[in-house]
Amino acid sequence: MEIKNVTVIGGGTMGNGIAHVFAQFGYNVILNDINQQFLDRALKTITGNLDRQVKKEIITDEKKRETLSRIKTSLALDESVKNADLVIEAATEDQNIKTKIFQTIDAAAPVNAILASNTSSISITEIAAKTKRSPKVIGMHFMNPVPMMKLVEIIRGLATSDETLAAIVEISKKLDKVPVEVNDYPGFIANRILMPMINEAVYCVMEGVASTEAIDTVMKLGMNHPMGPLTLADFIGLDVCLSIMNVLHEGLGDTKYRPAPLLKKMVAAGYLGRKTGRGFYQYEGK
Ligand code: NAD
Repeated sequence: MEIKNVTVIGGGTMGNGIAHVFAQFGYNVILNDINQQFLDRALKTITGNLDRQVKKEIITDEKKRETLSRIKTSLALDESVKNADLVIEAATEDQNIKTKIFQTIDAAAPVNAILASNTSSISITEIAAKTKRSPKVIGMHFMNPVPMMKLVEIIRGLATSDETLAAIVEISKKLDKVPVEVNDYPGFIANRILMPMINEAVYCVMEGVASTEAIDTVMKLGMNHPMGPLTLADFIGLDVCLSIMNVLHEGLGDTKYRPAPLLKKMVAAGYLGRKTGRGFYQYEGK
């Protein structure tokens, strides 16, 4: 099956990057969100990121224009998927939101279309079971920032077909990414290992083990991580981190995955990291 038309649902941190990369590699993209302001912001971010690629001579100015011309936006979910060969859902990490989206797109997309989710932790098997095409449902977990990060975790739900898996592995390679196949367990590989580390760093702040800066410095200089866990948490979004910890906790049933009370408190306060201007650090201009 040839994939030409791709619909990306959700134009936030991940959705705009996914739309950017597919358009850059020649696919026709429709970007869907619930509000025009979010779509405008996504296009602005994509334009800024393309400008950076031009400046670094990764792409030409002509390529930038071509890429932008391949991205259309839409507020109507059912309309936006009606000619899709592949739909990638990158909406808020909330099972109810994703279930509703998958039921709508299952009814509206062509029968052969593959429906993928960029979820960080929610069960692909459960999402697929809410549709009438579970063999065609798969996880396609990009990393942030999508235009720069090579990895795509490909999550195979219990019912995902070999054909769907092969198509998604192939398209990931066409996007110049490295696909890694993973079976469907809470958090897959990346977040099963990364999030408990971030959560432990939050416990360290909460218990006064050391300052935020000290914790990040230890992990950067001591473990050679490119950024400390608290800087990374701000970058990912503290609400996203909390949702993932909740999925690990519920899905694996082990208290070692309980989210740190400080993480819950910061999310309740609206301190979500870079996107709100305040998380473990403060960010200007937000
Ligand atoms: P975000 O909050 O930045 O963006 C989510 C977007 O989805 C928002 O623009 C919101 O308006 C939109 N949305 C919500 N409900 C919708 C609906 N019903 N229809 C269409 N759009 C809707 O979140 P994000 O960080 O981009 O995360 C998106 C997904 O990607 C989540 O599943 C998350 O777990 C996953 N993910 C995030 C990261 C990360 O580093 N942030 C990395 C990998 C995967």
